[in-house]
Amino acid sequence: MKTKAGDKRPARRERELVGLGVAPGIAIGPAAVSESGAVQVPEYTVAKGAIEDEIKRFNEAAERARRQVQKLRRKVDAQGGTVAEEMGYLLDAHLQMLSGSRLMRGVEQRIAHGSNAEAAVQHEISALAQSFADLDDTYFAARAQDVREVGTRLIRHLTKTPYQAFSMLPEGSVVLAEEISPADAALMDPRRIAGFATVLGGAESHTAIMARSLGLPAVLGLAGLLEDIKTGTTVIVDGDAGRVIVEPSRQTLARYRKRLAAIQHEKTKLAGLASLPAVTRDGTRVTLMANVDLPREIEPARAAGAEGVGLLRTEFLFMNRKDVPGEDEQAAMLTEMVGGMDGRTVTVRTLDVGGDKLTDALGDRATAGANPALGLRAIRLSLRQPALLETQLAAMLRASARGPVRILLPMISSVTQVQAVRHILGQVARRLVRRGVEIADPLPPLGIMIEVPGAALAADALARVSDFFALGTNDLTQYTLAIDRGDEQVADLYNPLHPAVLRLVQFSVEAAARARIPVSVCGEIAGDPRFTALLLGLGVRELSMGPANLPRVKRRVRHLDTKSAAKRAREIMQQSDDNRIAALLDEFNQASV
Ligand code: PEP
Ligand code: MG
Repeated sequence: MKTKAGDKRPARRERELVGLGVAPGIAIGPAAVSESGAVQVPEYTVAKGAIEDEIKRFNEAAERARRQVQKLRRKVDAQGGTVAEEMGYLLDAHLQMLSGSRLMRGVEQRIAHGSNAEAAVQHEISALAQSFADLDDTYFAARAQDVREVGTRLIRHLTKTPYQAFSMLPEGSVVLAEEISPADAALMDPRRIAGFATVLGGAESHTAIMARSLGLPAVLGLAGLLEDIKTGTTVIVDGDAGRVIVEPSRQTLARYRKRLAAIQHEKTKLAGLASLPAVTRDGTRVTLMANVDLPREIEPARAAGAEGVGLLRTEFLFMNRKDVPGEDEQAAMLTEMVGGMDGRTVTVRTLDVGGDKLTDALGDRATAGANPALGLRAIRLSLRQPALLETQLAAMLRASARGPVRILLPMISSVTQVQAVRHILGQVARRLVRRGVEIADPLPPLGIMIEVPGAALAADALARVSDFFALGTNDLTQYTLAIDRGDEQVADLYNPLHPAVLRLVQFSVEAAARARIPVSVCGEIAGDPRFTALLLGLGVRELSMGPANLPRVKRRVRHLDTKSAAKRAREIMQQSDDNRIAALLDEFNQASV
């Protein structure tokens, strides 16, 4: 069996890997390879009555670890070649260790004797690795390394520890990891981290969105990324072309440094647009707002000239913690963010966990389920856990005393869900007023995400019970085309320009117009200038996007003529072939820069 440790390879020169460019820009810096990481292992005694649950917790973590390795296995298989062969052997060995092996039995025995699962794994791994190392043979030395890697993977799943303490990395580091969760990405400070690249992950995953929001160049879905690379090696992440260059030559470095300088220059030029209005050449006013995932994005949103927050994702309140934030904590955070927007409207969305956005804070209340994207997520979870929803609504109402707030509900699929939340909102408001707490009067508008195909098709009925629509084209594309937005294996099939998606967008926009309620688009296409003409042509006048995208979209709006955009949109809507649609849009864009 071939092993990593057994290999003796010649020193490598520049090498290029191709993946999915998910966040634009260039990062050049020393690699920070995120692998084992020093995970804190808690150690305590488990009471007799709790042992069964502890074994269950261990088995669940092992199942998650197995799924992760299987995913990696498929990924390297698809790549083919020697990397696939070597990595395949290695991952198969890891999979074996994670299924009914001596390691697993050993851990279960230790738990049965009262050890907590993390400590049981740690001790069993040390014992096994030591017994291999004692054999003083290179083959077994490699096995000891495998055992440690499997152990770390298990412990990470048990402790739900993010891969790295990013704050400890040297300035300008480029993070390279197997996988980065949205919660991991939220921990990255763009002043410290230059960019990142991973083996797993799709273009519309929340990790990708987080990278774009933070302005961190990122490339995902790179098989073989972590083969033969050490922390400190110089790497380039080209988020535009979806390339990672390891150990670049002098010429390549010089070329990329030049591009980096050009990007900086362009940024400075675009910054001049911040104070100009978003008006088309023929005088149509367009409202450009910001999607905000983290409190620290309020300042960039304002600096970019956002006229409000069109989507405040509240998941950050629940990330990287093990408890649920209370009403006071949520209210304080939201109030500060609303205050930060200085009188501009902030659209706060209730918790949208589930799918690829699971949060530790909710523990068993939000489990992955057999089919997480279709399971107990978003508004479904909120309505099932009324206390969670009431706390969030109370916090939002309290923030509404500080400035204009709108309340937005994710994953709505039926009129009754909206009615149920409106009822609860009324109750929560009355309770606050009785407590003498100041809230907005009248109550904030209550709107819904249109991101489930069924909701788009029922947009007429939903418009009658909603105060506004926000079109979530990320999920709308995912659910209409049955393409997991976070899975790099089907990323090439993910297409918001598919005629089915466009028809749902058009129908929802028209339903909102008929009901005279505001409608915005806050999916990722809103922040991509390629789509601006089409969205305006379909009648959309409000767009919400990551703050970093705002200047480029504004420049596009200011170059456009709404009548010719509407004409091109009509032509596009008559097409049934998505390639033809893309061609018609790109041709229009090129002719009207
Ligand atoms: C969407 O689905 O388009 C959206 C904006 O919501 P999120 O990306 O948070 O799922
Ligand atoms: Mg969504």
